[in-house]
Amino acid sequence: MKYTELASLYHQLETTPKRLDKTFLIAQFLKKAPSKDLPHLTLLLQGRIFPTWDEREIGVATRLLVKAINTATGISLPEIEEQWKKTGDLGIVAEKLTAKKKQAMLFSSELEVRKVFSNLEKLATMEGSGSVGLKLKLIAELLSNAKPLEARYIIRTVLGELRVGVGEGCLRDAIVWAFFEIEAGISFDSEKGIQVSDREKYNGIVAIVQSAYDKANDYGIVAEVAKEKGQNGLSTIHICVGKPVKVMLFQKAKDIKDAFERVGKPAAFEQKYDGFRVQIHRDSSSIKVFTRRLEDVTHQFPDIVKIAENQIASSHYIIDAEVTGIDQRTGKSLPFQHISQRIKRKYDIHETVKKIPVVLHIFDILLLDKKELLHEPFQKRRELLEKIIEEKKGKITLAFQCITTDEGEAEAFYKQSLAQGNEGIMAKNLEGIYKPGSRVGFGVKVKPVMETLDLVIVGAEWGEGKRKGWLTSFTVACRDDETGEFLEIGKVGTGIKELAAEEGTEGVTFHAITEKLKDFITAEKGKEVRVKPMLVIEIAYEEIQKSPTYSSGYALRFPRLIRLREDRTPSEISLKSEVQELYDGQRGR
Ligand code: AMP
Repeated sequence: MKYTELASLYHQLETTPKRLDKTFLIAQFLKKAPSKDLPHLTLLLQGRIFPTWDEREIGVATRLLVKAINTATGISLPEIEEQWKKTGDLGIVAEKLTAKKKQAMLFSSELEVRKVFSNLEKLATMEGSGSVGLKLKLIAELLSNAKPLEARYIIRTVLGELRVGVGEGCLRDAIVWAFFEIEAGISFDSEKGIQVSDREKYNGIVAIVQSAYDKANDYGIVAEVAKEKGQNGLSTIHICVGKPVKVMLFQKAKDIKDAFERVGKPAAFEQKYDGFRVQIHRDSSSIKVFTRRLEDVTHQFPDIVKIAENQIASSHYIIDAEVTGIDQRTGKSLPFQHISQRIKRKYDIHETVKKIPVVLHIFDILLLDKKELLHEPFQKRRELLEKIIEEKKGKITLAFQCITTDEGEAEAFYKQSLAQGNEGIMAKNLEGIYKPGSRVGFGVKVKPVMETLDLVIVGAEWGEGKRKGWLTSFTVACRDDETGEFLEIGKVGTGIKELAAEEGTEGVTFHAITEKLKDFITAEKGKEVRVKPMLVIEIAYEEIQKSPTYSSGYALRFPRLIRLREDRTPSEISLKSEVQELYDGQRGR
């Protein structure tokens, strides 16, 4: 398929605000797309080159893009920079300048989707000396052959800011509309739009597509199977060892009483350990460790691999666990920041293993000895875990549990968990299945602290005076539930240190945040900058207020940074509906 067809779809989507209309456009597009292109197209539609679980990133600094536009169009760097300052959008700059160049040069080959995809894919794998030059060549090659509109979207894809508003839900529905028109009872009417004859039937098909996606974690596979093999094909998609599965998420309960109401009686209460989540996969001698972002961190955690090898009596499984770090001097749990350093660590692994040892707290299992367990009740899954986990103090434990119908007993368990330094407790439905990727109510968390928000940095200001050279005052955003777009909600400058990082507080100085963001500035005007949304931070606040100033319609009063959440992706940040819920919950305080 020609890339120009995708570019014009992007353009239509960009100018179509309603989700249903967007879904229709995408469905029509997917229908006519050749099967072999579906895996690339579904990713590109989401502005991605790699599925969420693939740790590779395009990672191209914005100044390299400016250089690539210069190479492709021959227009001088200062002129490009000036245009960029004026429009604040490098995609638009590339479009305009390409148009200008095209008047002089008429011939160039037409870009194929495959070619664009393959060049962008290569960008992520290049490292080391000479890689900058090669990256420049790959982007410039695309831009030289691009039509103006194509140039706009190539640049935006590299920047990770496509701005066409296609969320996962929209893509899922488009797959249903494209390939299950008859089974789902859909018809299209030019005046009334989409018509659904039988809601139940329709919802059934949506659930089948969603479930296939939750397991495959890749809309490319789902779309291809849907087109080629239909409904039966989708039911043969299973989770498999080696390919990370989206983790099940938990809702928040107000208190123990609320927890019982949501998960039923009796409920299994478990300590809520304050660490980070890992999914451990084993297939005979190969053991892999993934974070909840579905990043492969096996290399960083040889100690987890060893514990799994020695203490889990099976050679084929997928297990869900929380990892905490221990302070060797006191034997107590370490704050999250300390072990989160280990996630990013690429060198001196063995030293850090010794310095910050970890404990595994196992709380769920998704697959055992080739059998998928997602539909087994929680109690049964826990029994299986009890059979295969050999607990060892300071290395591996099963999540400490208390099954009860009694509020008093649950309350005492909660207090005990807090006294031991945990974040709170989880309450789980004994019959609950494992639903990857969704925040279903089979489990809820109860914790005393005020709810914080996970937000992504989308902008900042260059500091002045003693903060000169640092990015300060970070504009943060939540996500729209439907479109997945980033919606601004406030500016944060508090909770970040001016001093050089002390040991263990790495990453929370202005300097450290600046280092992480400075190569990803996408627009600059005066001291204001926009950055590629990639760094997630956890924010506490005094109150949420309604506000016309920010695109979310809300603002945070006295926001402060709690910690960097480099274990989370921008796709996992707080949703607008959650902000709304917290806002509603404040009233009557
Ligand atoms: P939150 O991050 O506040 O949404 O809380 C849910 C997280 O708590 C999960 O994603 C796990 O990382 C963590 N967690 C700690 N202990 C448990 C447990 N016993 N069961 C499930 N999740 C747990």
